[in-house]
Amino acid sequence: MSDGLQSLEDAAREFRREADFDVVDPKRLAAVIDGLQGDLCRVLNRGRERGDYQLTRLSPASWAARTCGMSRHSAADRLCVGKHLDSLPETSAALAKGEIGYQAASALCHLREQLGEKWQPDNEAQMVGYARQFSVEHFHACCRHARHVADPDGFDKDCAEDFERRWLKVDAMLDGMHSVDGVLDPVTGAAFRTALDSLAQWRGPEDTRNHGQRMADALAELLDHYMNEGRLPRRKGVRPHVTLTTTLQGLKDELGAPAAELELGMQISGKTVERLACDCTMSRVLLADSVVVDVGRATRTVSPATRRALQQRDKGCRWPGCDRPVGWSTPHHIEFWSRGGSTDLDNLVLLCHYHHRLVHEQEWQVVRVGHEVHVIPPEQLRTIFTRGPDVRWAA
Ligand SMILES: [Zn+2]
Ligand SMILES: [Zn+2]
Repeated sequence: MSDGLQSLEDAAREFRREADFDVVDPKRLAAVIDGLQGDLCRVLNRGRERGDYQLTRLSPASWAARTCGMSRHSAADRLCVGKHLDSLPETSAALAKGEIGYQAASALCHLREQLGEKWQPDNEAQMVGYARQFSVEHFHACCRHARHVADPDGFDKDCAEDFERRWLKVDAMLDGMHSVDGVLDPVTGAAFRTALDSLAQWRGPEDTRNHGQRMADALAELLDHYMNEGRLPRRKGVRPHVTLTTTLQGLKDELGAPAAELELGMQISGKTVERLACDCTMSRVLLADSVVVDVGRATRTVSPATRRALQQRDKGCRWPGCDRPVGWSTPHHIEFWSRGGSTDLDNLVLLCHYHHRLVHEQEWQVVRVGHEVHVIPPEQLRTIFTRGPDVRWAA
């Protein structure tokens, strides 16, 4: 007896030959593919029931994965769907008719598997109704609710097992950049996203960063904030801090000065050193003639009294249009400290992490005119300077 596959292959070949892909309805095509995916699940499940995998000495999921060229995770999903699809008539019919997609049918089969004895067949029609109505993401949430109602202990056990899957890795790469990878539990993940999303907003016309860059900067701003607040727990009696080593020449960004180094010998640019020297995020060690000398915090960092007066006066980042409050801003020396600028109120302005970086690393200029603070983009500065010495311009 024919397995019927030949006619399916012929039909698929004819479809590819005849079809005008400009007019094919993607919804109908997806329904056909999803219906066939259900059939693949049935076929794999029959193979498992017959024990086909035993000949290969592999687990059923590994056997299915190797046979169909898919990941073990996908293969285990197909086997679970194959095991339950025929015992879920409403689901099976809705999938065959293209009323629900494969992913929704799979979610229902997994729910059926998880509930075991606690599964109530009367609820199937209602669940399929939700699957027709909602997006796949929303329907997954419905299934989790159903699980929680029918089997709270099992739900808690799953959550505890899921929690064990958490991990986070921060690796230094050879060039000093760091790679971050990991899996977070739902609560931590939601908190992480909420915190970063709130800081990763587009900041205005000068903001040319893409979303990934804005998220990375949001993390930098968050870390900067917590390091500055000094609320992290002490380790061996010392507040956590990052140490930067440079020379006086390096701090002034003089030509030929050796690059500044973070711990572990990672070099950073002179512009970044200037920014770090401007506020007091980092504990700094200066090298003069290879001897470690502390030049004293008072020369560079802002005294508590000046800081209070500055916060009272500026009330947050002074960049036009910026919304960062006092707690998220640090003092910037308008005339850079490293170039002889003083640490007086007149020479200081509060800037947030992002705008402080624009000034030091991207060469925006901050100028104060009376009580007003203005910013000049680097292109405009270049035009001013290339006009030549005889042309007068207003500051
Ligand atoms: Zn600065
Ligand atoms: Zn700002």
